[in-house]
Order: sequence, then C-alpha cells, then structure tokens
Amino acid sequence: MKPYRQALSRLTLAAIISFLSLQAGPLARAAEPLEIFFIDVMGGAATLICTPEGETILLDSGWPGLDDRDPKRIVYVLKEVLKKNKLDHILSTHWHTDHYGGVEGLAKRIDIGRFWDRGLPEDPGADPANFPDGPKMDDKLGIAYRAASKGRRTVLKAGDSIPLKGIMKATVLAASGKVIAAGASARPNPLCETAPADKNKDDSDNALSIVTKFQLGKFDFFDAGDLTWNIERQLVCPTNLVGEVDLYQVTHHGMDISNHPTLMKSLNPSVAIMNNGPRKGGSAATVKWLRELPNLKAAYALHKNAGTAEADNLPADMTANHDAQGGQFIRVTVAPDGATYKVRIGAYGKDAEYLSK
Ligand SMILES: [Zn+2]
Repeated sequence: MKPYRQALSRLTLAAIISFLSLQAGPLARAAEPLEIFFIDVMGGAATLICTPEGETILLDSGWPGLDDRDPKRIVYVLKEVLKKNKLDHILSTHWHTDHYGGVEGLAKRIDIGRFWDRGLPEDPGADPANFPDGPKMDDKLGIAYRAASKGRRTVLKAGDSIPLKGIMKATVLAASGKVIAAGASARPNPLCETAPADKNKDDSDNALSIVTKFQLGKFDFFDAGDLTWNIERQLVCPTNLVGEVDLYQVTHHGMDISNHPTLMKSLNPSVAIMNNGPRKGGSAATVKWLRELPNLKAAYALHKNAGTAEADNLPADMTANHDAQGGQFIRVTVAPDGATYKVRIGAYGKDAEYLSK
C-alpha cells in the first residue's frame, strides 16, 4: 500500500472508531454478571437470582413470622446489595412453610411481578389429592399467598420454561411428581446399574417439588427444592434428563432422604451449596456422598450443623454461619458469558473461582 493510502486508511479507521464509540457512548452498558445469593433463612430456602439483564427471580422465600426475619433478609440483599426495588419473579418450589412462608412479609415490602408455583388445590382441573400439605383455603399462609399472587400466578409443569430476558434460560425438569419426557436421542445412564434402591413412597409435598435448571452459556445451576429420593432417581434413570451441571443446590437442606447419590453423580457438579440450618439438614450421609463425588471442587454450607459431629460437617472455612443467629449469605457471581464463576461467603469473603463445564 502506498504511504498516502496508508495514512488515509488510518484516518478512515480512526474516524470509524470514534464514530462507533460516539454511537455506543450513551447506549453502551457493561455486560453484567449473573448473581445467585443463597440467603440464610435458617434451614429454609431462599435463593435470589439476578440475571445479566437485571431480572430478579427468588426461588422460595424462607419461613414466616419471627418479626419477618426472612423477608427482611431477602429484601436487604435485593435492595442494598443488588440495588433493585422490585422482585420480577417468585417461584415457590412446594407448599411447605419454609419455602413459601416469606411471601406475606415480602409482599408488604416490595412489588412482586409474577408468581410461579406447582398449582393450588382450587385451580381449575387440579386434583385435590395432589396437595397433601395444603395450602388449604383457611390456612393463614395460604390466604396470604393467594392474596399476594392473585391474577399474577402461573402453574409450572415439567417441560415448561420460565420466560427470561436475554440468553438466560430456566427449564422445569419436574413438578408435582412428574419428570420431563426423555428426548429421542436419550441413552441409558450406566450409573443406574449401581443405583441404590427406592425408598417407601414419599406422600408429602417434598416429592412434588418444582425442579429447575438455569442456564447461562456453559453455566448450569440446579435447584430441586426439597425433592426426595425416588423422583430424584427418575430424573437420571434410566436416562439422565438433567445433563451435567456446574452448581448444585444441595437438595432439601442436605437431608439424606434426598440427594440420591446416583442423581448427584450423574449431575457431576463442580460446586455444591447447602442451605441447611443450625440443626436442620446437613446429614452426615449427605456430606459423605458429596465427598465421594469425583469432580466436586468445593462444597459450601450456610450453617455449621451443631447436631452432627465435627468430622461430618463441611470445613469451617466453607461454612457461612457458625452461630445460631446466622444471616451471612453465600454469593455466586457468574461471568456474563457463563464461562467462569466465583463463590464468596458474605459480602467481604475471599473469592474462589471455577470454570464452567
Ligand atoms: Zn424445606
């Protein structure tokens, strides 16, 4: 290229860059991470997600009462940490108090956009037998839930998706005791050959929990509420309907009537986070099964479990709360493209970084 043409093309390039940056100036927004907060609700569940598009989704809302301790802890993270004043979605995995009991206290404090649940007994076409634990029409929490969610509820079934902005996906893998159908290309899961036997049928609402997989690029997060053993096995046997995941919310607060070892091995998570309480969940067997996972890089707990031996607890530096008051959350920050993620205990803890699979 002749010198004057080179100069000209440099000039043209500079002009293009400056034009583009001017154009991008007021509109450009740095890509935001995906944030997932495991809020300490003392052996209940409250997992708050904020997507790269700034959309907020709360998976379960903790316990009721106690001067609205749990709604206050959730609203603190939403407003003070995430700087949001609205909850776009709330998903209640099942009808147990430690999962939907916080809705009343939340609805008093913030706007809630949409409610997602596994149905109410009075819904058209619902079978009342599928609601072993309510909520009944005269149940105080049931009344509060119905009032808060009126006209804004959607019932989720296996195979449904929750519509989210951007590239974030949320797929329902099981709900009300039914798992999604296997795809045409599904192959037998070899881990099923050594799967432990089923337990007696669980007739509680736990077995009916909504199971959701959230995906951002390569990053996958699995939350099964309080799903129990037999349905957990159905998610991975005879074929693995979930695939592998990066982050596993240890199911049912770490109880050992959940966390079927074949499910955990099939999901093959890199990081597990357990929402146990000071004396709830965190069973010795679950901790053992977690330790046996071949590719697990780290397991975190919201609480030290005072009810099990020191050796059956997760390490102290992987545990967010060591006293009975609690309140410290675990925060997962996923890169906007989903390629990597960091886990940190509390607002000021040290980050540990992991690669998505
Ligand atoms: Zn629970």
